[in-house]
Amino acid sequence: MSRTCLRCGAPLHGRIDQKFCSDDCRTDYHNEQRRLREKELREVNRILSGNWRILSENLRNGRARISVPELASQNFNFQIYTATQRRFPGRRTYWCYNCAYTVSRSGIVRISETACRNNLYL
Ligand SMILES: [Zn+2]
Repeated sequence: MSRTCLRCGAPLHGRIDQKFCSDDCRTDYHNEQRRLREKELREVNRILSGNWRILSENLRNGRARISVPELASQNFNFQIYTATQRRFPGRRTYWCYNCAYTVSRSGIVRISETACRNNLYL
């Protein structure tokens, strides 16, 4: 099996554990990996921030109960949350920072704000 540089694909002739043809390729590769991780983190943060704003605004506007389709129409992303816990059989609570919500079988989302105690949102 021929070995090639992870960055540029050039053939490698050095030690068996060699991964790059040069220091430049090693640096470029690790910088690119870091950029990709940071981009992914920014995207998750953007979704969490948007979800938090949607939950907070609904609460502030007296909509602590809202249907799944209505929340979805506000661009709420149900896939991303900061924590989750099963509190009762068949009932799961999700958190987006200090905003908690549950989703009933009939598709009603109940939103509440939780207080910060001992640095944990519970
Ligand atoms: Zn290279």
